[in-house]
Amino acid sequence: MAVLGCGFCGYQIRYHGEPEGTEPVEHIFTTINNWRGLEKSTLTADWLENEHEEFFTYALRCKRCGTFTFLNYLLDNIGAYTPVENFSAAPMQEPFDFGPFWDDFQWFDITETDITAAEVFTKFPGNRWLAKNETEMRLYGDAARTKCIAQFVRFRRPAKVTVATMTLDAFKKILREYNDEIDFSYKKTCYEVIKEQIDGGKIKIIVNEDFDLHILKYSATVDAGADFTDDLCNAKIFPDGKSIAEAQAEIEL
Ligand SMILES: [Zn+2]
Repeated sequence: MAVLGCGFCGYQIRYHGEPEGTEPVEHIFTTINNWRGLEKSTLTADWLENEHEEFFTYALRCKRCGTFTFLNYLLDNIGAYTPVENFSAAPMQEPFDFGPFWDDFQWFDITETDITAAEVFTKFPGNRWLAKNETEMRLYGDAARTKCIAQFVRFRRPAKVTVATMTLDAFKKILREYNDEIDFSYKKTCYEVIKEQIDGGKIKIIVNEDFDLHILKYSATVDAGADFTDDLCNAKIFPDGKSIAEAQAEIEL
C-alpha cells in the first residue's frame, strides 16, 4: 500500500501489507451485522477478506498522534478520527456503526488458522470493539460497550496540515510525547526538532534550520518530564523574528 499523510499531524503513514515493527499500523473493522453474516459461512478465516472484501474497513493508525484514518475496501479515504483526552460521559448519538476491531497482529494470527468466523471470538477473545458515527468514535474492551478505552473526534481533513489546523496544544502534545525527530517547514525552509536523552536524567531540545546545514536555531536542556513546550513555542526561532506560537498558520507539517 502507498504512503498516506495523516490529515491531523501530517506524519507519513506507511503500510506494506504485513504486520511489522512493534506497534500495529493497520486495523480492521467490520460491523456486527456483517460479521453475523460471515458467521453463517463455512469459509475459513483466511478467506473471509478475499471473498467478502466489501464487508471490511481498514483503519490506519498514525504512530505520532494516534489518529485513525479509515479506508474502504477500494482504499478510498472515508474519514478520520483523532484522540480526545477528556472522555464524554454522554452516550453516543445513534445511528452508529458498531462491530469488532482487530489490529493487524491479531488479524494476522486469526487468518493464519483454519477456523471459521463462528469460532473466532471463542478462540481469540482479545479483540476490541468499535463504534463510530459522523462525529465521533469510541473503542471498547467489550461487546456490551461498558468498558470504553478510548474516544476520538471526527475531523475534516485540511488542505494543508499546519500547527493552526491541529491547534497549538495538539502540536505541543506531539512535541512532548513523540520521541522521534519532528520536521516542519516555514516559508519554504525546513526545520527539525530533536530531543536527545543526555546524562543525569536530562533532555536536550534542539531546533535546526535546514536538514543538510543544521543551522542551530534553539537549544535547551531540561529535566526529563519537565514541560519544555511553552519555552520552545515562544522562542523567536524564525528569521523574521516570529515564534512557532506566532506563526502557527504558516508552519506546515
Ligand atoms: Zn498523525
